[in-house]
Amino acid sequence: MKVVVLGAGVTGVATAWHLSRAGHEVIVIERREAPALETSYANGGQISVSHAEPWANPRAPWQILRWLGREDAPLLFRLRADPAQWRWAWFFLRECTPSRLRHNIRQLVALGNYSRNVLQQLRAETGIQYDQMTRGILHFYTSQAAWSGAQRAMQLMREAGCRLESRSAEECINVEPALASMRGRLAGGSYSPDDESGDAHRFTRELAGLCSARGVRFRFGLTARSLVTGKHRCITGVRVFGQEVDEAIPADACVVCLGTGSSALLHPLGIRLRIYPVKGYSVTLPVRDPQKAYSVSLTDDEHKLVFSRLGERLRIAGTAEFIGHDLTLNNARCNAILRRVAELFPEAGDFDRPLLWAGLRPATPSNVPYLGGTRYDNLYLNTGHGTLGWTQACGAGSAIADLLSGRRPAVDFSFCGPPPR
Ligand SMILES: Cc1cc2nc3c(=O)[nH]c(=O)nc-3n(C[C@H](O)[C@H](O)[C@H](O)COP(=O)(O)OP(=O)(O)OC[C@H]3O[C@@H](n4cnc5c(N)ncnc54)[C@H](O)[C@@H]3O)c2cc1C
Repeated sequence: MKVVVLGAGVTGVATAWHLSRAGHEVIVIERREAPALETSYANGGQISVSHAEPWANPRAPWQILRWLGREDAPLLFRLRADPAQWRWAWFFLRECTPSRLRHNIRQLVALGNYSRNVLQQLRAETGIQYDQMTRGILHFYTSQAAWSGAQRAMQLMREAGCRLESRSAEECINVEPALASMRGRLAGGSYSPDDESGDAHRFTRELAGLCSARGVRFRFGLTARSLVTGKHRCITGVRVFGQEVDEAIPADACVVCLGTGSSALLHPLGIRLRIYPVKGYSVTLPVRDPQKAYSVSLTDDEHKLVFSRLGERLRIAGTAEFIGHDLTLNNARCNAILRRVAELFPEAGDFDRPLLWAGLRPATPSNVPYLGGTRYDNLYLNTGHGTLGWTQACGAGSAIADLLSGRRPAVDFSFCGPPPR
């Protein structure tokens, strides 16, 4: 089959890889000049099945209200005259109940575990290098209240199949000695030994190279304008434009992996996705003192930050801001991240040379992505991966390749569209 994959972020490229391996002819359309230049560019780097507690949880509404209007809040709703934002917020609130939390955690852990396995197989098979670290992820807490509050979600994640071990403050320091600077201030933590980290941008670039070597065709600098529909609920192609290009690319099937660009393309077909762009920031610092720098990937839940070691760089990413498609760097928010890093690891990085970045997570209210078919027989969705797109990319790509090839994916997940055969 000739399959057109829309978008060359980590999701689109992983999808192209698996489709090509399944024997399909694949074309990838991307508006930028290279892969992974948008949200997959400088994210937190974590392959974190253990990060399966969605923002939508019973504690979230009160937390968000408390943070409203605080410029440096870890999670900041900037209320706008934007009906899409209000609609999204309404559905977000509906996901905050205990039963929805349990359901969503199950989905995210199942997909995350599956995806991490697929990534490991891909690595073993291809030898792909992307500053990966396979030393687990440690979630640490600096307040007793936050540590106690985290217990319920940890229990749900364990029940769903995530290996997550509780650690005392001293045991956290044993896992990552760089946390010794926080001795006396840590309340406890949880360690997921199977989780990993690595540079999503480097991975996507390398995988795109491997795809090209298999015959996948990348067409950069082209924007998908619309999907061309035929009779009998099917897509016949994609209308694209670029510099001196305006054409329809024929397709036997199409997979939408456009991140925050997905809703606009699908809206005219009557497919309404609840994806809202949620802005996050990252800071990348050169390592200054390797003895003081962490190498186990870390999560600081209270500040909504994750820390990964990418070779000789420290990547710190996170926080969430609901402000539409705006990508400007807000000094107050960047400084809040730098302050926290300096507090935790004062000598680890070179604070004089920070690289600052902002990206838009394609967030659904539940944090569970749209994965599967649509009411059009040959149109598939692999989008809305929110905070976990790097964690889920390889598994989601593999599952879509299975669905499109008429096979049942080996993951227990509520796929959208018609049930898998
Ligand atoms: C601060 C931050 C930290 C994060 N940390 C982590 C983490 O530690 N672990 C984790 O798992 N996830 C993390 N994430 C989430 C993860 O980065 C995203 O979920 C993931 O990158 C989404 O990938 P994607 O391919 O779906 O979207 P994108 O990377 O945005 O790719 C979509 C592509 O589609 C292209 N496009 C859009 N519209 C069109 C169009 N009409 N025509 C042609 N091309 C188009 C875009 O140019 C883009 O290249 C983080 C995100 C942020 C912002």
